[in-house]
Amino acid sequence: MSKGNIMNTYGRFDIVFEKGLGSKLYDSNGIEYMDFVSGVAVNCLGHSHPAITKAIADQSSELMHISNYYWSKQAVELSEKICYFSDHKSVFFCNSGTEAMECGVKIGRKYGKIKGGADKNIVIYMENSFHGRTMGALSVTGQKKYQEDFMPLIGGTRSAKFNDIEDLKDKMSSEVCAVIIEPIQGEGGINSAAIEYLKQAKELCEKYDALLIFDEIQCGVGRLGTLFAYQKFGVIPDVICMAKGLGGGFPIGAVMTNEKASVLVPGDHGSTFGGNPLACAVSLAVLKELTDGGVVDKVNEKSEYIISKLKDLKEKYPIIEEIKGVGLLLGIKLKVDVKEFSKKCFENKLLAVTAGSDVIRLLPPLNVENDDIDKAMELLEKVLQGYNQNA
Ligand SMILES: *Cc1c(COP(=O)(O)O)cnc(C)c1O
Repeated sequence: MSKGNIMNTYGRFDIVFEKGLGSKLYDSNGIEYMDFVSGVAVNCLGHSHPAITKAIADQSSELMHISNYYWSKQAVELSEKICYFSDHKSVFFCNSGTEAMECGVKIGRKYGKIKGGADKNIVIYMENSFHGRTMGALSVTGQKKYQEDFMPLIGGTRSAKFNDIEDLKDKMSSEVCAVIIEPIQGEGGINSAAIEYLKQAKELCEKYDALLIFDEIQCGVGRLGTLFAYQKFGVIPDVICMAKGLGGGFPIGAVMTNEKASVLVPGDHGSTFGGNPLACAVSLAVLKELTDGGVVDKVNEKSEYIISKLKDLKEKYPIIEEIKGVGLLLGIKLKVDVKEFSKKCFENKLLAVTAGSDVIRLLPPLNVENDDIDKAMELLEKVLQGYNQNA
């Protein structure tokens, strides 16, 4: 395939996909692949889900975009649905994860300004985190490899060790306006925060009058077996950033806030495309399937099924060091080069991407069929067998 004039920002697999159905993708020769990437936790209902294609067809023939100078039924209804299922009261719509983080950081800064004036501006973020590629989100992403070529980043940030409450206590002060945490670090290697850590982080935020912001862009929207990730941990943050699965493949991001964090007023923030009727109609259809359709309710069952299979594989193949993750945000920690392993999976028609330096991520659609799980696990075992023969 010609690379056309695409800017060289990704190392891509040498393949062109033309069609997708459920958990499967088909290349230009009709060859089938098991898709356990789901567009990186985006296609939560799999490919070509009828509820999504119908919402796109119906809504696009009525009204696609009107700008935020006017109201649309779809945006209003989606905001109500999101708040109905959560503990929060207002929603800002945008188009991607990094945009949701930008909004989250600005909410933190505005909150600090109101509560403590210009000096209350420090945003704490976690080592090994990932929050996006725009300058604000990049500035609170705790991985040097993404940051180093783009200095200077925004000021007023401070990093803390993930899951280390003593370190967070040391880093907190009255100048802190917000603390950003991914309840499960996705990109960083499928690292779960401890419930106790999140509880104490929340208490620290209350003590120092800072906002607790959860980045649920990857771990949210049903992936952990609860509609929102925080519900799995029982710790309610002030601000939640979402994107990825929220549109099931159609771009949409959102930030929701509780009463305390509802600080933005007209003129503070905006987005031309954010909350357009088409994106909101699709997201409404996705949420309906996830909730009324019972998809989220079955995530734990499917998770247990995959995990039990992965544990069996771990017994048989000692290159597997650990099975990580919650719900359908799963990782396999390996003792071999994971980039190489991911390539071997691809050669065996299983799509799986890496996370961190030593983990293979498994992110099937949330409605993945058990048959498809079996199939994927067979392909995975073939790859593992290859390593055994080489040993
Ligand atoms: C993917 C991701 C982002 C960035 O989202 P984009 O839509 O790529 O901008 C931010 N945070 C987390 C946890 C993510 O997984």
